[in-house]
Amino acid sequence: MTLALCELHPCFHFPIRADPIRKLRPHTMPFPALTGITPEVLAAWLQDVGEPSFRAGQILEWVWQKKALTISQMTNLPVALREKLARSFRLTALEHTHTQGSADSTRKFLFRLHDGRYIESVLIPANAALYGEKSDRRTLCVSSQVGCAYGCGFCASGLAGFARNLDPAEIAGQVLAAEQLSGERVDNLVFMGMGEPLANLDCLLVSIALITNDQTLHLGARHLTVSTSGLVPQIRQLAEHPQQIRLAISLHGATDEVRQQIMPINRKWPLVELFAALDYWNSRRKQRLTLEYILIQGVNDAPVQAALLARHARRLHAKVNLIPYNTVAALEWQRPSADHCRAFLEILQQAGVAATLRHEKGGDIDAACGQLRLQQETTGGVLPQGGAIS
Ligand code: SAH
Ligand code: SF4
Repeated sequence: MTLALCELHPCFHFPIRADPIRKLRPHTMPFPALTGITPEVLAAWLQDVGEPSFRAGQILEWVWQKKALTISQMTNLPVALREKLARSFRLTALEHTHTQGSADSTRKFLFRLHDGRYIESVLIPANAALYGEKSDRRTLCVSSQVGCAYGCGFCASGLAGFARNLDPAEIAGQVLAAEQLSGERVDNLVFMGMGEPLANLDCLLVSIALITNDQTLHLGARHLTVSTSGLVPQIRQLAEHPQQIRLAISLHGATDEVRQQIMPINRKWPLVELFAALDYWNSRRKQRLTLEYILIQGVNDAPVQAALLARHARRLHAKVNLIPYNTVAALEWQRPSADHCRAFLEILQQAGVAATLRHEKGGDIDAACGQLRLQQETTGGVLPQGGAIS
């Protein structure tokens, strides 16, 4: 088995698997997808090919609002322009291959990318107000990378290491595809699918600009929540961003000792540095932070962790989302009993913290990030069978 140090994050001195796909499939670059083209770039392209700039609005309307399935459907464009478009662009970067529906009507969509990799998005209906947004909305959980380099011990996304960043068309395209496939409007977006969004910050910000543009989906930035395992410099960078995007932190441990057992990133940015970055975030933002805390039996679920978590949350004016661990095949972690989870919640609430115990939707469809894609890529021969951690 080949081992390699992660080149993207040289600070991480732990081995991850080399990406086997690079050997299996050469990376061929297809035409850019229209879901990744900003109105400004489209207008510039139209000018280059001798077409009037007002056509940009018509093309964007076909892509994002009328949700055209082919360029030839764009019937108010001259045939010659449709031909030019088809010679320069694809409509979408995602090929839908599978939908998994769950009893509570959470749906998970699996998409194949041009290089044979897979990503997934999860549509969660009638979501309770988890991140400060209004309830009874449809929330889409989107992926930002193929795999993840951060190797949290409990997470399916990191199991096969990191393959590549998603580009803006692949990120923004998940929202369009989910609306197309479900026939419903997505109201909220959480960057909590596969990958670490802040490790792909440039593409993330372009995709956010695309999704929030009034000529595309016009989703308000307040309806977007970026979740991070705690990349300190990027949290500070995002704090400067003019749009009011919400931030959620995957904490999962209230002391360095507990957190670094399950999250290797804590060795690079321990709690003291993470909290300093969150203080900075709070100094720039009005909206409250969210601390996410997965409850894993015997690892981070002791009452003393709850008391310390309450102290951190109060100091940071943050809400806490407790999430009973969603078991992942090939990993030995377990969720605590329902009573134990409730007792942990009560400690937080008694300390005056706004905390919720998230009833995990989609548990019957492997909704935890990365599970369906891992299954697909192992059975489909992209990754070796049997998970991937060496
Ligand atoms: N990389 C980012 C965003 C993707 S993970 C981050 O870590 O925040 C999104 C959330 O799903 C994180 O809080 C992560 O800890 C959580 N998660 C991962 N595996 C899980 C599992 N098996 N059960 C419950 N939550 C899980
Ligand atoms: Fe990556 Fe987030 Fe999973 Fe950690 S929890 S491995 S950072 S996707």
